[in-house]
Amino acid sequence: MLCQKCKKARAEIKLPYLGLRLCRGCFCKLIEKRVKKEIRSKKLINEKEKILLLDNNSKEAKISEHIIRAAYNNRVDLLKVKVNALKIGHLSEKTKEIIKKNKIKQVIIPWNLDDEIIYFTENLFNKGDFKFLSHFTQDKIFYIKLLRNVLESECLLFANCRKFKFKDKPEKDRQKKVIKNMLDKIDKKHSETKFSLLKSIDSLNNTIKIN
Ligand SMILES: [Zn+2]
Repeated sequence: MLCQKCKKARAEIKLPYLGLRLCRGCFCKLIEKRVKKEIRSKKLINEKEKILLLDNNSKEAKISEHIIRAAYNNRVDLLKVKVNALKIGHLSEKTKEIIKKNKIKQVIIPWNLDDEIIYFTENLFNKGDFKFLSHFTQDKIFYIKLLRNVLESECLLFANCRKFKFKDKPEKDRQKKVIKNMLDKIDKKHSETKFSLLKSIDSLNNTIKIN
């Protein structure tokens, strides 16, 4: 079967929620477009200022770097700092130093749509604290979840299509694992589940902010 977009290359990728079969090239373009739209519509990046990427060697870190460079034709000042364990809202001393030294005001977190839903669900039942939902500001620094509207499965496809080298750490947190499995199960039956959940989270987040 041929790609439903370009109608030239072989359709190797199936996107159930869009009912589309695409070739690798068109799939990557679709993801890049979606992320660029998020950057534009939410004014996420100030390209005149330095950007720091938290590089935990994951596919999300590699893809974030790739898309930022592509979106700005390499004209942005992108710094990277290696992080071992990514814990949202917490930075290592080394990272804090780099931020201070370079007067960083915007930081990209390697974070996908599944991460966002898991974060939300966990907080809904546990802490009830949504401080780090969506893109957020902490200590005058803007934290950007560049791949917030890209599924984990899409990130994996993208990284493989682009032949990125990465190493994802297996999830050790039991609760996160349980939530993730449940989500994947529902999403398998209803392929739009994760996207609808993100939409609900966004409208809830707006309500929380207003109050
Ligand atoms: Zn195509």
